[in-house]
Formats: sequence, structure tokens, C-alpha cells
Amino acid sequence: MNNTTVIIGAGISGLLLARSLAASGATVVVLEKSRGYGGRMATKRVGETLFDQGAQFLTARDPAFVGLVEDWHRQGLVVNWPETNHRRWVGRPSMTAVPKALAEGLEILREHKVTRAHRHASGGWEIDIENEGIMQAARVLFTCPVPQALALLHAGEFSLPGGVAESLQGLSYHPCIALLAVLSGPSLVPVDGVAFNDGPVRWLADNVKKGLAQNTPAAVTIHASIQFSEANYGRTEAEIAEMLLPSLEPLLGAPVVSATVHRWKFSEPKTTHSETCVWLPEFGLGFAGDAFGGPKIEGASLSGLALARKVAGCLVPRQ
Ligand SMILES: Cc1cc2nc3c(=O)[nH]c(=O)nc-3n(C[C@H](O)[C@H](O)[C@H](O)COP(=O)(O)OP(=O)(O)OC[C@H]3O[C@@H](n4cnc5c(N)ncnc54)[C@H](O)[C@@H]3O)c2cc1C
Repeated sequence: MNNTTVIIGAGISGLLLARSLAASGATVVVLEKSRGYGGRMATKRVGETLFDQGAQFLTARDPAFVGLVEDWHRQGLVVNWPETNHRRWVGRPSMTAVPKALAEGLEILREHKVTRAHRHASGGWEIDIENEGIMQAARVLFTCPVPQALALLHAGEFSLPGGVAESLQGLSYHPCIALLAVLSGPSLVPVDGVAFNDGPVRWLADNVKKGLAQNTPAAVTIHASIQFSEANYGRTEAEIAEMLLPSLEPLLGAPVVSATVHRWKFSEPKTTHSETCVWLPEFGLGFAGDAFGGPKIEGASLSGLALARKVAGCLVPRQ
């Protein structure tokens, strides 16, 4: 009988879940729709320039996560940013460093977009993958944003039990527009970035000063506020640049050479689920991610690890 556990999503929660389950002897396959690892811990190349376009840094409070981060630090995957701030960590060379390291040795099929998850009446799952065909699995664990997971189950005509369905349908996310600006000269952006409490921009940081981008005087990641992102999500790149850049000129300090937009539809959960993860052993079905463990990288990581512990108890180990 097929005993494969399929994990949908190679973000931080999916990768930690996969590593942990594989270490307990499970046969694990991760399906990831994009080319890279890390999901919202994303680095983007614009020409020759690298930007952290999603998560900017990570923080650690829970002792279990602190232990993980210290381990990543020992491996040279994260450093304090700036050096004197012992509460903020960034990936080295970029925020994808940790996901890339976690992915090593795992079976991860990238550019494999799941379009449907269907449960057989006799048990087990049939997973449809765009342009790739069908994969059979004993278990399916979703780590993509919850509305995306529910859409895949809906396409497979799977009905969740009432209470679970209600709690998952209640989860939604804020969008975030990211603007990646290359400047013709050095920026005036402080080395540790700037967080704003109001206005159209909530965050900006110069990836050159962060130690990520090279071969360019300045490469600034600008994250629009929730309100701005919701109101202007469908606007063109030129319109967004025109609306955001003029008020930032004094901080940028040099002319903008190019401005590229990335739209994060599911940037951060508006509210989080009461459980750290959801595991339904009777269906071989689980959910993890930042909408469960609490927002941000720490919450997503703890959620992935929590689901791994629950699933591991139900696994038949590899011979
Ligand atoms: C703009 C922005 C700024 C942020 N800043 C910070 C910060 O400074 N600090 C911090 O701690 N956190 C920050 N976060 C939040 C942090 O990035 C997330 O909480 C965390 O990375 C979520 O991890 P995850 O594994 O739950 O989900 P994700 O990283 O979203 O991973 C889900 C994966 O599922 C894949 N997927 C989706 N659908 C499918 C499908 N149909 N088939 C196959 N694969 C699929 C996706 O491609 C993705 O790789 C930020 C996020 C954004 C967007």
C-alpha cells in the first residue's frame, strides 16, 4: 500500500515538517509550485541585483525556535542584523539561505503546482499536479495559505467536518505590495531599515547595506502598508511606483533607476487559528503554516514542527 506523505508547499513550515517527518522514517514528497524554496522567505533577482522581497528578518522567542535559530547561526545561515541587534536575524547571503539548507536531501518537486486533492472512498489521496499528472498518497499535509488549501480540497470535492471547515474558512490574509527599487547612487536609508506606523509605506530597507545586494549603489525593498496594498492591489507597476516613490525621495537620497513590483496576495494572516496545527488522522489530512502557529517565520516554523509530531505518531516507518 502507498505510504507516501505528500506535503504541499516548500515554505519554512513545509520544509521543517518534511525534515522532521523524514527523520522519523517517513517517505515524504514535497510539491512546490514555484522554482525556489522558502515561499514568503523570498529573494528576487532584478538584473544583477538581489532583493529580499518577502520576509525581511526573523525574530525568536519560543525556546524551541531560539534553539533552531542558534543552530542556523552556528551553520552560518543567519547573522544578527545589524550586528549589534541580538533580537533580529537575517539569512546569509539572503533570506532563502535557511530554506535552501533545509531542502537538502529531501525529495522536493519544484515547479509542481497542485490543482486538486481528492480523497478515495477506500482511503488515500489522489493529487493532481499541473502538466505532470496524478500522484497517490496516504496523507496530504497543506502548508500553503489556507484559502489555497481549501480551494484544492474543494476542487477534489472533499468536505471537511463542519467545525473544522468553519474554523479554516474563517482564516484570511492581508495583501502586501512590494516595490523593489534600484538607485543610481548610495541611499540615505538607515542600515537597519525603517518601519513606519502610518502612511502608504510600512517598511523599507537597503539590501546593499543589509549585505545582500552587490554591484549596485543601492537596492531598496519597499513594503506598502496594508491599507495601501488593499486599495491599490490591481494597479499597474508604473502607477504604484508613481504613488509611492515621490514621498520617499528624501530617504532614498538618489534617483530611482528601476522599480519592480511584486504582489503578495497572502502576505500575513489577519487572525490565527486557535490550534498550532490541524491534524485529522481519520482522513490523513493536515494543515500547518503561519495562520496556525502565529504569524511570521517563528509561528510558521513552530506550526510545521507541531504537525510533524502529530503525524509521526501515525506513521508506518520505512523498512
Ligand atoms: C512582504 C512580507 C514581509 C514579511 N516580513 C516578515 C518579517 O520581516 N519577519 C517574519 O518573521 N515574517 C515576515 N513575513 C511573514 C513570513 O514570511 C511568513 O510568515 C512565513 O514565511 C510563512 O511560511 P509558511 O511556510 O507558512 O508559508 P509560505 O512561505 O507561504 O509557503 C507556502 C508554499 O506553498 C507553495 N504553494 C502554494 N500553493 C501551492 C500549490 N497549489 N501547489 C504547490 N505549492 C504551492 C507556495 O509557493 C509557497 O512556497 C513577511 C511576509 C511577507 C509576504
